Amino acid sequence: MRAISAPGQDRTPVLRRQPARVVNGEPEGGYTDAYEIICRDCGDDPGDDYRDIPPRLQHIRGPYWLTTGAAQYEAHLEWHEEQQLAKARLAPAVAMPTARSAALSLPC
Ligand SMILES: [Zn+2]
Repeated sequence: MRAISAPGQDRTPVLRRQPARVVNGEPEGGYTDAYEIICRDCGDDPGDDYRDIPPRLQHIRGPYWLTTGAAQYEAHLEWHEEQQLAKARLAPAVAMPTARSAALSLPC
């Protein structure tokens, strides 16, 4: 299990021990018994304290117990893969509304 993102893998979500507090981007006061998911793709930053991030990101972070966190981590990775596939499937369709609206703008 990856605990901290390695260089070159910065976009990959990580599951880490939840710091008691993050001050100036650094964990402070040790760690809680809980785990949290940090997903940069979703806009999260490991240097932000849990209390300073929006509710959407707090929901992703958890915190979780280890087994739940590992399962949530896997689910989150799968969710991103599905988003990528959905985006790839939708890509050709993006041009459609433009073509249709052009057709609709023709004079009657
Ligand atoms: Zn994410």
